[in-house]
Amino acid sequence: MKRILTLCLSACILFCFSSCSNSDAKNTDTSSDISQAETTGLQTKETNTSVTEGTTQTSETVNNEETQKPSETTKPAQATKPAHTHSYSDATCTNVPTCSCGATNGSALGHKWTDATCTSAKKCSRCGETSGSASGHKWTNATCTSAKKCSRCGETSGLALGHSFSQGKCLRCNTPDPNYNPVALSKQNALKKANSYLQFSAFSYLGLIEQLEYEKFSHEDAVYAVDNCGANWNEQALRKANSYLEFSAFSYSGLIEQLEYEKFTSKQARYGADNCGANWNEQAAKKAASYLEFSSFSRQGLIDQLEFEGFTHEQAVYGVSSVGY
Ligand SMILES: [Zn+2]
Ligand SMILES: [Zn+2]
Ligand SMILES: [Zn+2]
Ligand SMILES: [Zn+2]
Repeated sequence: MKRILTLCLSACILFCFSSCSNSDAKNTDTSSDISQAETTGLQTKETNTSVTEGTTQTSETVNNEETQKPSETTKPAQATKPAHTHSYSDATCTNVPTCSCGATNGSALGHKWTDATCTSAKKCSRCGETSGSASGHKWTNATCTSAKKCSRCGETSGLALGHSFSQGKCLRCNTPDPNYNPVALSKQNALKKANSYLQFSAFSYLGLIEQLEYEKFSHEDAVYAVDNCGANWNEQALRKANSYLEFSAFSYSGLIEQLEYEKFTSKQARYGADNCGANWNEQAAKKAASYLEFSSFSRQGLIDQLEFEGFTHEQAVYGVSSVGY
């Protein structure tokens, strides 16, 4: 060290003298000497500083070596490995935060389950993972007034059953029938009476009403009975026609008139006459014979009588011939 310092100083002095010898004027020499001296002083200082720094650096290096040496013995890995800051991945339901180096920090979040519903399985509200299956609806049966319904979520299926009314109330829930109009005893009896009449005789609609009124049922009860007896009035007209033909002879028009007299409509009466199966020639013969049983007739008189009864001329001639005229 001292040798470098001496070399520097001597170099400076040499430079100083050479510059002095180059100058002509003494004044300028002096001033230049001063400036040279100052420069030399500065240079010397700088040299000293650099030397000092050099010494300091040397001592620092020594110090570092002194401090690092004992640690090298205790932590040999740190000395060789480069510094590394962990960078952890985000924690998820199932992933532990992990650094690329393999280090972990904390733990996975775990699923955040929401309960299963009727239509969806147990589900993690964070990651959407599902577990198990939907619980399914918990149906309660449909009633008269409400549809089949899930007691859990309220969903409905189908329609309400509706009341099943009988005798004024619902057979299922006993709700009274708002339209129930109990049939009065008098109506029930009028209906029974109407049905019993129809068992042994044929009646027209109006004829049966008249018959019930004759039995002292009110007109309203009689109408109720006849409206509800279920009779087919065409069939009643035919039945009536057949019963007449059992004990008497009729022309086609005479039978219709008789049925209309019994209060059948003309349409019902024609239905009876058209479907009774009578042979009108035979009816004329039968009628001619019955007249001659109780009275005496000329041939023409008997023909006129049969035509009056509604037989055609041909039927009347047939009838008269059949009794011997
Ligand atoms: Zn790491
Ligand atoms: Zn999850
Ligand atoms: Zn449900
Ligand atoms: Zn009901």
